[in-house]
This record gives sequence, structure tokens and C-alpha cells, in this order.
Amino acid sequence: MRPIRISLVFLGSLKYPVSIAQLESWPSKVFKLHHSASVGHLPNSEGPDWEYTDEQLLHVIANDVEADFTMGLINAPLEDNYYIRRLSDRVGVLSLHEMADIARYSNFAVEQYILRNIYEMAVLFSANGKLIPDDYESWAHDETRGCLFDMNANKTDIVFSLHRPVLCPACRTRVSSRQVPAALLPALDAELTRIQKTLFVRMSDWVRSHPIWALAITAASGLLLNLLASFIFEQAKKVLPWLG
Ligand SMILES: [Zn+2]
Repeated sequence: MRPIRISLVFLGSLKYPVSIAQLESWPSKVFKLHHSASVGHLPNSEGPDWEYTDEQLLHVIANDVEADFTMGLINAPLEDNYYIRRLSDRVGVLSLHEMADIARYSNFAVEQYILRNIYEMAVLFSANGKLIPDDYESWAHDETRGCLFDMNANKTDIVFSLHRPVLCPACRTRVSSRQVPAALLPALDAELTRIQKTLFVRMSDWVRSHPIWALAITAASGLLLNLLASFIFEQAKKVLPWLG
């Protein structure tokens, strides 16, 4: 399976730092990201509520002909209050507006949010004859299932598909009904589990949800350390009698 080549274009100030190295080095058989270009300063938004319209963005983001498709990254509202939009068959845009705050508040990295959505677009691209379909919104389901295709009409629901997102059975069936590379679904299963909170945050979450166990483990660890220290001290006294 040849990875889908995706060109990333940064649009204006993203406000939060985004690790290009982490995105470009993400090990994946599904896609390969490449930060190809940036637009330093954006024009003022043309939408009535200070949002950037699809038509306006199509004039800002150029399709990278060396990539299978191009994704713009912006930190501003998009048309109809979506956070991800398809602009043409080969150009999409992902917004960090509000979403980066939601992700960071729940201890997710902005890069995780970006990767999760890149996987969503990559699956669409792969399942639709190498074109991002006109009706891509119809893939999304209103129910929040921790799936790549959760609609997340309530934007805060994104957090349920930022930690080890999945393809729910309905979406898996939909992908399977298209001609996709045989290795796509196994690769997705293996790779989506790597989109997760850091070990420190996972440990903190575990302690919060298991306070009694955490206390018991702390007490047992303290006792063991005490015994170990006593043992070492007794052994040290035999070698260095002046210690006693
Ligand atoms: Zn689904």
C-alpha cells in the first residue's frame, strides 16, 4: 500500500506552536505528511461572522500537484462553524479555532487533534476513488462513538475521539464496501491506537479514577522502600563498621 501523500499548508498565525517534525515523522502506512508551504499573513475574513468562506480559502490555498491532496491549517472560524471542510476534490482545510483550546484543556496535544483529522480525510480519500467526495459530511454520524466520523456538532465531543479513536462498525462496513487497499483497515487499527494521551496524563487519569488503589500502592511502595533502605544500611554496616 502506497501511503497517501498529504501536503500541509500553514495559514497565518496558528497561535499555538505546532511541531512540524512530529507530524512529518509520524510513522504511518496510511499517509505521509509534508509541510510544503505557509501563508504568512491572511487577508481579512469575508464571512458575515468573521469566518473564512470556502470560496475565499480556495484563493488562498494552492493545490500541491506533487501531493495526493493538500490540507490547509488555520486558526480561525470556517464556514457554517465547521472545524474541517472540503474545498475541492484535492484541497481541504482544518481549523484550530476553539478546537485547540478544547484539546489542550483535556490534556491532548494539538498535534493529536491534527493527526486524528488527517486520518479521517485519508480514509475518505482512500475510500472514494482517490477523491475527497462532495458529500463527505454524510459520512459523519450524529452519535458520538469515539469514531473518526463522529459529527461532533457539539465541538467539545471531539475529546471522545482523540484518545485511541476507532472506526465504528458502521463506518468500517462503509469503508469495506469500497475498493480500498487490503492493508488499509489493519493499518488503521494499528496506528489509531497510537493517537493517545501521554503516559504521564494517562497515569494521572488512573490515579484520579482509582484513589484507593493509588493510596494502597503508595503505602506499599513506601514500606518496601523503607525495608530496602534498612537492608542496605545493615549490609553497609558490615563493610563500614563506623557507620553503626
Ligand atoms: Zn463511525
